[in-house]
Amino acid sequence: MAETNLSKEDIRNLLTEAMAAAVNLPRAMNPMEKKQYEEEIKREKRRAILSVELGKAEAEKRYRQQTGCTHSRLSTAAGARAGQPAPRGQGEWTTGGQVHGYDTIGLVCLRCSTSWQFKATPQEIEFANQVGLLGFAPPPIERCINKADFEKPVAPDPAKLEKVAV
Ligand SMILES: [Zn+2]
Repeated sequence: MAETNLSKEDIRNLLTEAMAAAVNLPRAMNPMEKKQYEEEIKREKRRAILSVELGKAEAEKRYRQQTGCTHSRLSTAAGARAGQPAPRGQGEWTTGGQVHGYDTIGLVCLRCSTSWQFKATPQEIEFANQVGLLGFAPPPIERCINKADFEKPVAPDPAKLEKVAV
């Protein structure tokens, strides 16, 4: 038998390493494991689809609020009807807000929570500081920093859904 320089300790270490490697080797899944694995994949896909659907539902709800609310109410001049919703821009705006850093104004509709963030002019800042922003007219969307919040929701890309579809 050929001589070797390996000590018993060396051989033990080699064997331990080899066994550890064998344990980590990928092996075929047995039918039970395969079934569990496939179930898990299906669950993942259902979760993905659900989150896409939820995202779409949320965007639609947000858009309905923004476009369904006139952000306006009848002023006290309307007598008993004061406070009732008015056509957009008539009566008074149902807004409030505050000046943030970097001369931006955050305006929010107190009825539907639509939020407009926009870079304010020095006059607007002055007005906000002197009079306040209750009933302040919302800026055109083009002026908004958060323009993306006003985008019309689009249906999820069918190709993307296809990818996660079971
Ligand atoms: Zn509103």
